[in-house]
Amino acid sequence: MRLLIVEDERRLAAALARGLSAEGFVVDVAHDGLAGLRLAQERDYDLIVLDIMLPGLNGYRICARLRAEGDETPILVLTAKDGEFDEAEGLDTGADDYLTKPFSYVVLQARIRALLRRRNRARTAPVLRFGDLAVDQAARRVERAGTDIALTAREFAVLEHLALHAGQVVSKTDILAQVWDFAYDGDPNVVEVHVSALRRKLDTPFGRRTITTVRGAGYRLETDGGLLA
Ligand code: CA
Repeated sequence: MRLLIVEDERRLAAALARGLSAEGFVVDVAHDGLAGLRLAQERDYDLIVLDIMLPGLNGYRICARLRAEGDETPILVLTAKDGEFDEAEGLDTGADDYLTKPFSYVVLQARIRALLRRRNRARTAPVLRFGDLAVDQAARRVERAGTDIALTAREFAVLEHLALHAGQVVSKTDILAQVWDFAYDGDPNVVEVHVSALRRKLDTPFGRRTITTVRGAGYRLETDGGLLA
């Protein structure tokens, strides 16, 4: 497993590289944005740990650039303080997860493992179909009635979790734990925000009701894709 760390705080970068190398990862380090982008473009990494505030080119731009080039390497973003990083914006640029500094090494390690597991699972996962809705886990793409639907990484993850439990009620807490990982202690309403966004993109334009709210219990993805009578 080859990891790239792009972090201008040299002591932090060195500490992370040391820890991850000791676990058997092959680790490359870049201390500025341009060098980081170049390495990411030239070599094939399993995961990139990417600081946001970087000299040369910031982390948002690196992330957006890689995704625009079709590079789907999982990216874990590091952000200096709460508020600096806009989750919606960051995840829209294609980052898969983020951590606010200071973070514990154990949490970082767990997030890296979770992202690698998710990617390995996704690589061999089948396309899930519900009526005219297709959720392609490997390509991270969603299509309805032949139309591509652009989702953020987080929206896709929420949809995927509901899709894997189609026909069953899934609680908000469960979605939070699965999609935001265990370290997330934010507002559970973030799930509602993402479900609303999904409905706006997947259902409204097509006259469907794919995701049903089950009062006091959670959400259910309808196995027929939510065809309205
Ligand atoms: Ca920095």
